[in-house]
Amino acid sequence: MTLAIPIEEIKGVGAKRGAVLKEAGIATVEDLLYYLPRRYIDRSRILSIAQVPVGVEVTLIGQVRQLRFVPGARPRFVLVVEDESEDISCVWFQGGRFMQRNFSEGDVLALSGRVELFQGRRQMVHPEYEFVSAAGDQALLHTGGIVPLYGSSADMKERGLRSRGFRRLVRAALDEYLGMVEDPLDEQMRRRLELAELARALEEVHFPSSLEAAQNARRRLAFDEFYALQLRLARLRQERLERADGRALAGGGEWVERLWQSLPFEATGAQRRVIDEIFADMARPSRMSRLLQGDVGSGKTLVALFALLRAVDSGYQAALMAPTEILAEQHAANIAAFLRGMGAELGVELALLTGRKRSVARRQALEAIASGRAAIAVGTHALIQEGVVFDRLGMAVVDEQHRFGVLQREELYKKGGPVDVLVMTATPIPRTLALTLYGDLDVSLIDELPPGRQAVRTARRGAERRDRIFDFVAEQVRLGRQAYVVYPLIEESEKMDLRSATEGWEELTRGPLAGLEVGLLHGRLKGDEKNEVMRAFKSGQTQVLVSTTVIEVGVDVPNATVMVIEHAERFGLSQLHQLRGRVGRGGEQSYCILVSHAGGESESAERLDAMCASQDGFVIAQKDLELRGPGEIFGTRQAGVPQFRCADPVADADVLDLARREARRAVEGFDD
Ligand code: ADP
Ligand code: MG
Repeated sequence: MTLAIPIEEIKGVGAKRGAVLKEAGIATVEDLLYYLPRRYIDRSRILSIAQVPVGVEVTLIGQVRQLRFVPGARPRFVLVVEDESEDISCVWFQGGRFMQRNFSEGDVLALSGRVELFQGRRQMVHPEYEFVSAAGDQALLHTGGIVPLYGSSADMKERGLRSRGFRRLVRAALDEYLGMVEDPLDEQMRRRLELAELARALEEVHFPSSLEAAQNARRRLAFDEFYALQLRLARLRQERLERADGRALAGGGEWVERLWQSLPFEATGAQRRVIDEIFADMARPSRMSRLLQGDVGSGKTLVALFALLRAVDSGYQAALMAPTEILAEQHAANIAAFLRGMGAELGVELALLTGRKRSVARRQALEAIASGRAAIAVGTHALIQEGVVFDRLGMAVVDEQHRFGVLQREELYKKGGPVDVLVMTATPIPRTLALTLYGDLDVSLIDELPPGRQAVRTARRGAERRDRIFDFVAEQVRLGRQAYVVYPLIEESEKMDLRSATEGWEELTRGPLAGLEVGLLHGRLKGDEKNEVMRAFKSGQTQVLVSTTVIEVGVDVPNATVMVIEHAERFGLSQLHQLRGRVGRGGEQSYCILVSHAGGESESAERLDAMCASQDGFVIAQKDLELRGPGEIFGTRQAGVPQFRCADPVADADVLDLARREARRAVEGFDD
């Protein structure tokens, strides 16, 4: 853009201010113009002094008649201003001693603020002010209109860059450079989409003629950001679809069929549908890039296995990647069980590769993958990170995508060559966010749970009721069920008020759960220690599993019916939903107890109540997005959630939709 002009070129910005601004990411005129106001104050009501009502934000214009400094217990500076109708006092307590210098008798001022009554007289305290020329021809910056408020860091404030200082800079930048702004959208498109012209939008977003105009301006700027991203995604998608590399994974072997025949249950309609979608994609010579969304427990693993076997049936290797070792091990075990059920344990060799395995086993796995002997490789993202060489990889399934992050996904695309990719996510991504993040992917949705699932009864309980909660846990265990107790942190050291899993385990085994088999799982255990703990829990040998959130993703133990989450107020909604998804996997009624150490009236209590009210991952994810924003949910850097200067994928969802449609239209030449 033409506005890549160093910020120091603007009048009023020297080296020091320049440094402070750059610190805040404002290095150029463009950056400054896209540094949008946090909000606005409507000071557009200009009234005569006699008319001014008490308690309302107004602007009045008057002449200085008297100024005086009043020393004493509350030293203050008082300015008496009058117009034809009446006079009024303006009072400054802070910096009062120095205010006097700013004014002289006879100055004409515009003053904005709220009028209050003091000892029966009307006055304004700390009003915003500016000098008005006698001719009355200059635009008001701080008063008399819709006035922008900017966020500023402590350093910025120190350099006179509160809202007032900012307004001057922005005004100067607009006056000087707005003429240079070129609109990338032509008039026809703007008119069709009802979008403001860019230069006008930049002016109006800072100094709007009305609040509605400010809203429209923001909308235009948001559109530009969404549109740029959506164009990229649409091109990526187009490229992928056009680049036919001749690898059609059309099947032909027997394994898919044998899996169908040996299924211990009936696949749901939704599972069948997405398997069809995936197979159709794989059969095409273009590269598949598909996002599989499905709530926790909807049976994504089976769908993945079908995709893997389809690749094998087509003469290729297939890989399944999971975000944690525990999950990779579990996938490997599940797949092995299915293969046994199919009588395929000898026909389809499985290699398990995790990060920690340095050993003969690892070398053997690598060799099996490289030679092509292993048809299916299961592992953590070590599978793509450590230069693992495949003989003929045709299909990669990435489980629990948000943990992998966009970067890893790109890495996979690069390394994998013409590999079909299926990305599975258990955190249902609200549509708006899916569009921002995965606009290049095709989407399949499992919108149905296997039959017989009962809703998990969910309750929020205060910490003082823990005794009764654990009595309940013990009772369930005596009925033959199993339970999880989840803690947010491993050790007491970081936050003293957090009950660590280790301490919790000690307390529980000494107290309320004495006599039961209680396991302890946390991230600091070594790989095989973790496996052993998980194995013991899966086999039912351990009755209660005390854990940190390492079990959050994907762990599947159908006999577990109770999930107790300590310090539930510390978790995000989507995370809680994931945790709750660990129970309710078998036929028995399951329970999720959210132990809250926060007050019943707090905002977090409200969030927990949202959990109790809904079992629908999409509803919960949408709520989470509203409450915490996209960066928080996915861990901004980790997931590569794009950072926008103006746009907000939640608030501007309609603009995002518009941008996506336009981008598709521009790239593919049609509407979808
Ligand atoms: P997620 O989608 O959360 O990864 P899983 O694939 O772990 O869910 O499946 C959850 C549980 O449901 C597993 O125990 C799995 O064997 C079982 N399951 C999957 N599909 C079906 C089905 N169609 N009918 C019955 N149970 C199923
Ligand atoms: Mg899963």
